[in-house]
This record gives sequence, C-alpha cells and structure tokens, in this order.
Amino acid sequence: MVDLLYTGRNANVRKSSMLVHLGLGSNLGDRHTLLRNARSALAEQLGEFRESPIYESAPLLGMDQPSYLNQVVCGTTTLEPLALLRLCQALEEQAGRVRTERWGARTLDIDVLSYGEQVLSLPELTVPHPELPNRAFVLLPLKDLTPDWVHPRTGQMLDELWAQWQACSAEPLPTQVSE
Ligand code: AMP
Repeated sequence: MVDLLYTGRNANVRKSSMLVHLGLGSNLGDRHTLLRNARSALAEQLGEFRESPIYESAPLLGMDQPSYLNQVVCGTTTLEPLALLRLCQALEEQAGRVRTERWGARTLDIDVLSYGEQVLSLPELTVPHPELPNRAFVLLPLKDLTPDWVHPRTGQMLDELWAQWQACSAEPLPTQVSE
C-alpha cells in the first residue's frame, strides 16, 4: 500500500480515497430516526454518499427481538480501515448502543461491509464483512445500490451471492419500507 501517509502526521488517513459500503441496522427505539441521524452523520464524512432503500427484516434465527430496519450506504473515504471502524463505533455509541450479548437488540449497528477491493483480516476488523453472503438484509440493499459489486475475496457477483442465499436460507425475506 504505497499511498498511505505514514509520515507520523496522520496514519489514519490515506492519500487516495476508497469506495466503502456500510451496513446500518436498528431494532430498538425510534428506528427511523436512528437510521436518519446515522445517514446524515455519514453523509458528512463520506464523499459521493449514496443510500439504499430501507428494509425491514425479522431477527435472525427467530430470536425473540423487535424487527430490524436495515440499510446500506456507500461513499468514498480517505480514512484507513480501522479509523473507519472507529467512526462507525462512535456513531453507535452516540446512538446510545449498549453492548450486552452477541446478536442482542441494538439501537444502532454499523458494519463495515467493504473497503474498496481490499480483503482484510485484522483482529478487530474483517473485510468484506464475513456475514455479508449470509444476510439478505445486506445483499438486497447492496444489490439496489451497487448491482455490479464483486466480492473481492471470492470473485462472486451479487446476483450469484443472492442465488446462493436463496438456495441455502430458510430465513424470511426482508421487505422494503418507506420512512
Ligand atoms: P457487532 O456486535 O456487529 O457490532 O460486532 C462488533 C465487533 O465486530 C467489534 O468488536 C468489531 O471489532 C468486530 N468486527 C470485525 N469485523 C467487522 C466489520 N467488518 N464491521 C464491523 N465490526 C467488525
């Protein structure tokens, strides 16, 4: 990665920008407002910001939780991957997220779905998000937003990932909702 600014001034920032996808989810509190606030904060941070439609999805594995609103946003950033993760975590905290159990209900979840065409496996960050192929509430809005996206590790196109999800999953389909 020759274009990193490892000058000691700011190792969190790259010289060139990357297209990133972020997955938003909320199933506690005023879900639409929480997503809207996250979108506007991210729109200030990312260049060429775009957002998918909003989907409503049942909790995974029939868990006893309220249903989720999910959305995918994309844009360009010069933030390094871990700095982008920190930004997402700061927004989760601002939204009052309390981490209790894994897969617990949450006011706001923001996952780093993709970071350019990079494949990263760091202790804190795996990119593309490892659950991306298994989640209809990510695949559907990702298809709406960037239908030509290709998974950089497997080389699969979204249509292929979607066909694979449909063939393997018994989870109910998310539905599009308006604000
Ligand atoms: P979650 O409960 O979904 O918010 O998961 C949070 C944990 O997953 C954090 O400790 C992150 O460091 C870790 N993590 C690993 N890969 C990712 C990713 N691509 N996006 C967000 N969190 C990630």
